[in-house]
Amino acid sequence: MTVLIINALAVLIVQSVMGQPGKPELKKITESVYAYTGVPMGTPGNIFSTNAGIVIGNDAVLVVDTLTSVKEAEGFAADIRKISDKPIRYVVNTHYHLDHVFGNSLFADMGARIIGHVKCREAIISDGDKILENPAAFGLPADFWEGTRTVAPDTAFERGIIIDLGGITVKLIHTGFASHSAGSIIVHIPSQDVLFSGDILFTDVHPYIADGDLPGWEKNLDFIHAMNVSRIIPGHGPLSSNKDIEDMKAYLPFFDKKAKELCAKEKDVGKLTAAMLEVLPQRGGGDFIVTMNLQLRYLSENRDGQYRKQ
Ligand SMILES: [Zn+2]
Repeated sequence: MTVLIINALAVLIVQSVMGQPGKPELKKITESVYAYTGVPMGTPGNIFSTNAGIVIGNDAVLVVDTLTSVKEAEGFAADIRKISDKPIRYVVNTHYHLDHVFGNSLFADMGARIIGHVKCREAIISDGDKILENPAAFGLPADFWEGTRTVAPDTAFERGIIIDLGGITVKLIHTGFASHSAGSIIVHIPSQDVLFSGDILFTDVHPYIADGDLPGWEKNLDFIHAMNVSRIIPGHGPLSSNKDIEDMKAYLPFFDKKAKELCAKEKDVGKLTAAMLEVLPQRGGGDFIVTMNLQLRYLSENRDGQYRKQ
């Protein structure tokens, strides 16, 4: 569906701020948790720089998000193998956006169970194949998705699930409120004092909000804040803390208010983007992401929440 394609496009240009662009690496966060950072995008100048990660238990490895293609996932899996030879038994999709799920097929072929929210599963089933048919729509080379298949979560949940990796328990939580997408979830590892937020948190990078439910998103940020976790691995950006959650919570209503004010007087998206960037906090990815947010959420006929279909 076009909506999903446009939504996914919005993550195309995001500056790499957690790792070096083009130098993917597993960064040790705690004894059992690593963040995978620095994965480059396949087009010149465009970087998803999506964070992924792993949790290692006594019996198994759990992967959090699988990047944008099976080729990227192959590099990820090879790097995992340098750290652990335990079976990769579980993959979690924090949400359905293409830069988080199109490595699923590699891990499924390795025997992993793919787990996500029911809304994430529905979106991937309905739209995944259509996206893979048209890499040019994302500025990607024709062979970018060679070997990549659509694989949706085979295990889906509404509110929560607990996964025991042996000595380490992982909690997958949906707060009951939509946020960055309707099926965006939190991955909490209590014993490690670590949380993967998926794209509920963007740190140092302008968030993609056109697909979001802003009031619900703020509730999700409050929920994470109240968990008081020391180390938060965001969907995009560096290792974060509650301070970054507070910044994100301030950003969303500020963006919404300013965008509504400006769009009431001006329709030229280039001028609007420049005006927004003057008042928004300094973050990466602005020209592209802010433009996309304005176009899809505030200038389109489908504006203001109509994109919350997933
Ligand atoms: Zn996303």
